[in-house]
Amino acid sequence: MLLIEADGKALFAEHGIAIPAGHVVTAGDVIAPPADTGPWMVKAQVPVGGRGKAGGVRRCGSPDEVADAVRGMLGGRLKGHAVEACLIEQVAGGAERYLSLMVDPPTYGVRVIYLTEGGVNVEHGDGADRSGRTCAPELAAIVATLNGLLAHEAEAIRAQVADVGRKLAEMLLVRELALAEINPLFVGEAGCVAGDAKVVVDLNAVDRQPRIAELIAARPSIYLDANRKLAEGFDYVELDPEGEIGLVTTGAGLSMMLIDEMTARGMKPLNFCDVRSSQLRGSPQRLVRVLEWITSRPSLRVVLVNIFAGITDLGEFAALLAAAVDASPNLRVPVVARLVGRGAADARRILAEKRPDIAMEEDLHAALDRIAAVLA
Ligand code: GDP
Ligand code: MN
Repeated sequence: MLLIEADGKALFAEHGIAIPAGHVVTAGDVIAPPADTGPWMVKAQVPVGGRGKAGGVRRCGSPDEVADAVRGMLGGRLKGHAVEACLIEQVAGGAERYLSLMVDPPTYGVRVIYLTEGGVNVEHGDGADRSGRTCAPELAAIVATLNGLLAHEAEAIRAQVADVGRKLAEMLLVRELALAEINPLFVGEAGCVAGDAKVVVDLNAVDRQPRIAELIAARPSIYLDANRKLAEGFDYVELDPEGEIGLVTTGAGLSMMLIDEMTARGMKPLNFCDVRSSQLRGSPQRLVRVLEWITSRPSLRVVLVNIFAGITDLGEFAALLAAAVDASPNLRVPVVARLVGRGAADARRILAEKRPDIAMEEDLHAALDRIAAVLA
């Protein structure tokens, strides 16, 4: 999961990587520049790259301009995300470099990329001299690689970048990150300063990473999906806040396939989820939670429950589903259940008895046709 820049920079600072002086403002805060000498950057804090090109990064010459920029961004949307926080910081200067360390699962290594031409075009793949290297995640190896790549640099600059590289590598390993990227990394006379932070944390490692858990918990709405996962123990990802079809599904691959199928038919799924039907342990609670999250979206028009049962008994599942719908008074849209596999006949009988309003299908396309009829 991608952290917002301000949180990534907080981790940088904790690992000794210099960042510009600055602070975060949210709605209702007094807007003041971080120090009395400008200019300043105002940057929308949304967990997505390419903010510069989308109008989420502004250079401001006066405190009034800072206030204007913040007011213009807060409460708006950027690249599909609500802007709930802005970072105000002093402008950093120097040459723009790109430095990135990314875990490379197939080789159990770390991909190191250093570019002397950093900036907003790198993310789009049109950076000038992109050089990728894979090496074992030993700090010495990473530093050696960086030194090799930087052979043409002046000695002093080389030492500075190597120092940031070493600190970034240590951060990647100590915090168990998937990605730590600095673009731009400003390299000037006074040393290196991280102009941006792209830090991807591994949610599966959060149990061992109290600091990451703390950063996530501190922003319940920006990291909504991650907070849900940590609290409830299963995956739920909102795909489209204006989606119309709420999904209660199991199996990551199957759920993704279902979403592709719906998108191909021009439908708008709201969420991805994996309720892990085999782990409900006789309680409808997890299903109630999902229905709660889905129904909180005004655009919701229909719910599709899609369970392909191997271990799960569909009779038991149908009883839990009926109980969950009973316990969800806010659910005011039709529910279509596509239940296929072990115990499907029992499930049909139980739903007919307890919740005859839930339409059950075993065939996927029949279920999607029912969805289409509701949406028509
Ligand atoms: P991104 O587009 O989401 O990656 O946002 P960035 O934080 O990388 O900002 C986009 C661009 O704005 C950078 O590539 C820089 O060119 C510029 N920029 C950002 N911060 C600073 C800064 O402190 N000083 C200067 N001179 N430029 C900056
Ligand atoms: Mn950037």
